[in-house]
Amino acid sequence: MIETNKSLLPYHTFGAKVNAKYFTIAKSSDELSQIISENLTNQFMVIGGGSNVLFTKDYEGLIIKNEIKGFEVIDETDSTVTLKIGAGENWHDTVMKTVEHGWQGIENLALIPGTVGASPIQNIGAYGVEVKDVIQEVEVLDYSNFTIKTYSTSQCQFGYRNSIFKNELKGKVSVLSITIKLNKDWSFNTSYGAINDELSKNPELDITPLRVANVIIDIRNAKLPDPKEIGNCGSFFKNPVLSNEIANRILEEYPNAPHYPVGELTTKIPAGWLIETTGWKGRSKGNVGTYPKQALVLVNNGGATGEEAWDLAMTIQKDVYNKFSIKIEPEVNIV
Ligand SMILES: Cc1cc2nc3c(=O)[nH]c(=O)nc-3n(C[C@H](O)[C@H](O)[C@H](O)COP(=O)(O)OP(=O)(O)OC[C@H]3O[C@@H](n4cnc5c(N)ncnc54)[C@H](O)[C@@H]3O)c2cc1C
Repeated sequence: MIETNKSLLPYHTFGAKVNAKYFTIAKSSDELSQIISENLTNQFMVIGGGSNVLFTKDYEGLIIKNEIKGFEVIDETDSTVTLKIGAGENWHDTVMKTVEHGWQGIENLALIPGTVGASPIQNIGAYGVEVKDVIQEVEVLDYSNFTIKTYSTSQCQFGYRNSIFKNELKGKVSVLSITIKLNKDWSFNTSYGAINDELSKNPELDITPLRVANVIIDIRNAKLPDPKEIGNCGSFFKNPVLSNEIANRILEEYPNAPHYPVGELTTKIPAGWLIETTGWKGRSKGNVGTYPKQALVLVNNGGATGEEAWDLAMTIQKDVYNKFSIKIEPEVNIV
């Protein structure tokens, strides 16, 4: 069923009051295929949980919410388990299901909002782990001939918050499922100090995937706003990866600036630090502001429009550029 003039308030996390001219839900790949084939020449967009989109105005086309479910063990050995998971499954619930089974691999990605199907789009990542580390295949519906195609990890061209689905396949395919391989033999990525600090509070307890996930949940709850309470779409900007020369220029002036080498020639400087140093942490403009505990997150203080958020984002981008000569780019999909 296609609904008209549907409020998108329950379908995205920023909480802007916007409507879609048309709206529908697809619960199977056949349903999705039929809806898209009938609307291919019209404007349409597939969404999951709406946690990485900012609607700046009413959407004049068809929003299709992907609710294709499924959680299937397709292979299991003594040391690994391979799962095929439907695009419409909730990402965090999926993480918790895997850690409760004692399977290791995605525990560091606990509490990331949204769906399984969106996870490969920007190669979600947190605390030293990216979804590409476990992905074996991504199954998509190809709109050019309405067949199902499978992309291997290397074909997905994963990068930092990037993949082929954000580039040459944007608007040409929909993710139907992902296949991931997890471990039964554990080896954890606890490279982020905060994870080790938490784990070392109870050295007598075994480190299990469930325990690591719970530590991540506590760390995230302490520093990120819950979209159910404060509208937001997560990190608004990507962390810029700079040439060492530019990074060193910043470090000469700000020796304590956080920075992480990326390969031999480049360095990542957190966008949150750049925004904070520009004086924007915890500040608001109209109904939008930056979150006091994390300047990288733009928050809806109540009644904000997407346009206001975009306007603030552009102001912040300009101020960061004026101070550091670095252009920070949005991570969020602006619609
Ligand atoms: C509080 C908060 C914390 C966050 N923390 C992190 C974090 O730590 N790491 C991180 O990487 N991200 C983070 N995010 C961003 C976001 O959660 C992820 O990008 C997530 O994968 C988006 O999922 P979604 O289902 O909500 O996607 P949506 O917002 O619905 O869609 C995002 C994009 O993907 C496309 N898309 C969605 N589903 C499909 C599909 N099935 N097929 C094809 N295209 C599709 C949409 O068209 C859109 O362009 C955070 C967001 C919030 C609000």
